[in-house]
Amino acid sequence: MTTPYSFSSRLYIGGRRVDGTSDARLVVRNPATEEPIAEVPEASVEDVRAAVQAARTAFDEGPWPRRKPVERAAALLRMAEEMEHRLPELVAVNMAEAGSVRWLAESIQTRIPVAHLRDMAERVMPAFAWERPMEPTIAPGAGIAQGQLRHEPFGVCSLIAAYNFPFFLSMMKLIPALAAGCTAVLKPAPATPLESLLIGDFADAAGLPPGVLNIVTGGTEAGRELTTNPMVDLVSFTGSDAVGRMVYAQAAASVKKVVLELGGKSASIVRADADFAGAARSAIAGITTHAGQGCSLLTRTIVHESVHDELVERILAGLAGVTVGDPADGSTTMGPLISEAQREKVENLIRTGEREGASIAAGGGRPAGLAKGYFLEPTLFTGVDNSMTIARTEFFGPVGVVIPFRTDDEAVRIANDSPYGLAGAVWSADTATAYEIAGRIRAGGVSINGGGAGVNPRAAFGGYKQSGLGREWGEFGLAEYLQTKSISWTAR
Ligand code: NAD
Repeated sequence: MTTPYSFSSRLYIGGRRVDGTSDARLVVRNPATEEPIAEVPEASVEDVRAAVQAARTAFDEGPWPRRKPVERAAALLRMAEEMEHRLPELVAVNMAEAGSVRWLAESIQTRIPVAHLRDMAERVMPAFAWERPMEPTIAPGAGIAQGQLRHEPFGVCSLIAAYNFPFFLSMMKLIPALAAGCTAVLKPAPATPLESLLIGDFADAAGLPPGVLNIVTGGTEAGRELTTNPMVDLVSFTGSDAVGRMVYAQAAASVKKVVLELGGKSASIVRADADFAGAARSAIAGITTHAGQGCSLLTRTIVHESVHDELVERILAGLAGVTVGDPADGSTTMGPLISEAQREKVENLIRTGEREGASIAAGGGRPAGLAKGYFLEPTLFTGVDNSMTIARTEFFGPVGVVIPFRTDDEAVRIANDSPYGLAGAVWSADTATAYEIAGRIRAGGVSINGGGAGVNPRAAFGGYKQSGLGREWGEFGLAEYLQTKSISWTAR
């Protein structure tokens, strides 16, 4: 087994690497070669309880929640420095366990989270109003009330991540949790646990007190314990809407705060006056970026009927230039799906699209000449009606659909006719109209003419409708991990 890393793959509990109580192991495979690259412990319920207990003790008795924000910010900057030193290793692990192509492994997957960490420590934390005066008010018949509003760390947090952007998603939760003064148990997805285990080394280098961060590797059983254990105060979950619903229900029994970042089927509205080259590039990126395994990718292209054929031609020309293969090969522009199960799920949805009468304009099958690896061709459906399964269901694979519209109102109606509301886009030379349409799309983030690209840490990231609850990044992300306390006194 060729392991792409030098760090410990043991659990990280109470500031120490431990083996765990179970002999069960998760086998991590490179999805491009199907070869095992690591084995990590499958944490038992006892292991998870030990991690939660360590986080609870660190919260109730340790120094971290009581440190000044400026002291916590200094520790986060030490963490960022260590990450920067070890970026090449992080990139190599990401390519091997998640199947990212190099540009993605070097940008969104690794450097953006580090930039996000620095932004939190250098800009958001110093500017945040941790304490603010409560305006004096006259309580009729009871005199004057005044006091202070104070933000305090929420408590012990369970941070549960999806497989597709392992380090990025773990850090999206960990950064605000640590900034707020919370303690945490982090559980990465079972298919991609390695990058998150490396975060234990970063915590050591930053001098985080023991128990502030704990990392357990495991699957459903570990996740269930993390969302039901009464010592946990907050659950932040990124994953499918199906599991998100379970997490919401599991956490309800002990009334935990829940932040959910779930799926998407995001619409890109292309008006007749759009920059077609840009709109086509964005549609191609929606299909091919990480082989379509991105929650906020623009996978539904809604195009004015007068320019439908021209746009489709441009998308097809772009897809014809995509090279599918092992990310370790520098010429590859699109890598594999994470597993055979994920590939079969996407293939079944493609067959459903055909049965429902949509046309495959490109792809639809497995690429020739790749005997190993969970690869699929980039695929485009035309002749799609928004009521079809393929227009409503998240593929989480390299598949896009194109739907024509006649009026702006119809475009907005189609965009909003979805159970999801994570992201959206508008393409138009008339930027005032584009802005007005952006305001009508019921989604957490909308880009105009390609702006933002969905990874700006100064944005607030999150979903409307069944795409989730709460926000990540920046001060809105920080606020999710804080309680607000009012302390009042009399004016006498
Ligand atoms: P998943 O829902 O299968 O698993 C997510 C995590 O939940 C894993 O760590 C898993 O072990 C854990 N889990 C499973 N059952 C659980 C339970 N009963 N209780 C608690 N935890 C449990 O998702 P996935 O296949 O890893 O990721 C793909 C999904 O994630 C897609 O739907 C995608 O849209 C979504 N996603 C959303 C965002 C976002 O920010 N909105 C980002 C990335 C991925």
